[in-house]
Amino acid sequence: MSKVTRDHSSQELAGVGLSPGIAFGTAYAVESPSAAFYPIGIARKEVPRQLRRLRAALKESKRQLQKAKRKFEAELPKDHSHIIDAHLLILEDHQLLGEIEEKIQKELQSPERAVREAAQNWISVYRSLEDPFFRERGSDVEEVVQRIISNLTELDPHVTDGLPEDLILVASEASLFLLVEYPLERIKGLVVKKGGTTSHGIIIARSYQIPVVSGIPNFKEIIRTGDTLIVDGTSGVVLVRPTGREMRSCRARIKKQEKRQLTLVGDQEPCVTSDGRRIFLYANVEIGSEVSVGMRLGGGGIGLFRSEYIYMKDKKEPVSEEEQFKIYKKLAEEVEDRPAIIRTLDFGDERHPYFSPILGETETALGLRGIRLSLKYPEIFRDQIRAILRASVYGNLKIVLPMISSVDEVLEARRLIQAAQEELLREGVAINSQIEVGVMVEVPAAIILMEALCAHADFFAVGTNDLIQYTLAAGRADDHIADLFNPLHPAVLKSLARVARVAAGEDSMALVCGEIASHPVYARLLIGMGFRHLSMSPYAIPEVKQRLRETSYLEACAMVEDVLRQSTLSEVESCVKLTEF
Ligand code: PEP
Ligand code: MG
Repeated sequence: MSKVTRDHSSQELAGVGLSPGIAFGTAYAVESPSAAFYPIGIARKEVPRQLRRLRAALKESKRQLQKAKRKFEAELPKDHSHIIDAHLLILEDHQLLGEIEEKIQKELQSPERAVREAAQNWISVYRSLEDPFFRERGSDVEEVVQRIISNLTELDPHVTDGLPEDLILVASEASLFLLVEYPLERIKGLVVKKGGTTSHGIIIARSYQIPVVSGIPNFKEIIRTGDTLIVDGTSGVVLVRPTGREMRSCRARIKKQEKRQLTLVGDQEPCVTSDGRRIFLYANVEIGSEVSVGMRLGGGGIGLFRSEYIYMKDKKEPVSEEEQFKIYKKLAEEVEDRPAIIRTLDFGDERHPYFSPILGETETALGLRGIRLSLKYPEIFRDQIRAILRASVYGNLKIVLPMISSVDEVLEARRLIQAAQEELLREGVAINSQIEVGVMVEVPAAIILMEALCAHADFFAVGTNDLIQYTLAAGRADDHIADLFNPLHPAVLKSLARVARVAAGEDSMALVCGEIASHPVYARLLIGMGFRHLSMSPYAIPEVKQRLRETSYLEACAMVEDVLRQSTLSEVESCVKLTEF
């Protein structure tokens, strides 16, 4: 953490911006309801009464969730209610409820303890997963557990009386219920310990344009309830007890921001820089229901469809060709003539229980994941490719191969794709036999081999989340080295510039779909490097579009030239001027 004392009354805390924008307000430290005491064991004769308590708490939890769902449906695009549905499903899960009741009846555990213990196994499995999306599902279970326990202990976890009008919530996680249970119109910002960019809370915060900063160590010791804070989710900085000058500059930025937001929603016009360079923006999505949101917010297609999510529906078998076909067909029809890039399966062993018995303890980040897994299980890859090919006649679908580290992998994958094409044609099934097959650039080896890969890739998709992790040997989900995971590291920037240069030289399309594309400052750097295609969270599209329209391409190129001459992070940062854009 960089902790700089600015003057006698303000302190700057550097973290990671998870939702862009700037806000100021009064800090409010949120306590976890699970900190309450509860009994451990019960007497046998108490079992029926304790079961009744459990059922009443479950019923109350369900009522609260349904109320939250109604609120979400009224205030947010309908597509978000699936988030509450996920919590309702956990609450109604027969296996989980059975385990809880058994612990009460047979092991004479208190309902609170039984809920905590039964859910803990699920939470541990989810939390051990490398993919942030699935790790966040552990947070969903945790939220449901906290809700049941607080209803059991009749705790009111969030006392809303007397709350300030300009709340900056300071909490461990950017959970969904943090946003649902506090009056949303008062929440101006969030400072959280953790909350991956794919967490539900962060998705909602983005759609409400609530700035979020995470990853500041010891922030709970530094920030106290009642402190005035400025939360800058764009640069990932929190100012504690800001000076008058800092407040004035913050107010000016908020004014500018508000003006922009008025014109942001649903802008379908093209994104052209102030000096006339056309930039193409797309949406990254994990689930089908986000596709329409991405289009409504001005996306020119789907730049990354993370197909892993659909595999998690069934824990025993990979999802069938037929089921996948329906999903991809719907995707193709929804985007119409716009492109939709489907990334083939990208998870390692424990991300799907089906693979676990065979793969054992293989490393997730450096092990059998992405294309490696698909090549090891060609029958699973074949099902996915057949499903995509069958759906390809309904729209403009493309395929992208994840975690490519050699030309050989691309050749082998293309051979399997070719075989699936021939098979379908023999069966008389209509397909787009010209479907484009791209390569994800997220392993340094792919950058070294760029020239060679150009001959075998129809396009490139740069996954900066993994690229940064592998280039800097800094785990993307490891809080301890969050400061090392820096997109502005000169090695990362030089790598990205090389991808743009080589791809342009070979007339290959190169798209950036890592999180940095959602950040206007980095987006400007990317276009200055020559990238014209950026894919991001749907909610980031309007802001990035607007900012790039105000950007001069030539000035961005000049800045990149300057940046690429620097060899230290601080030199780069001073060229980029993080807060001024
Ligand atoms: C990336 O690595 O940047 C990327 C887009 O893929 P994911 O975040 O799903 O690994
Ligand atoms: Mg990746």
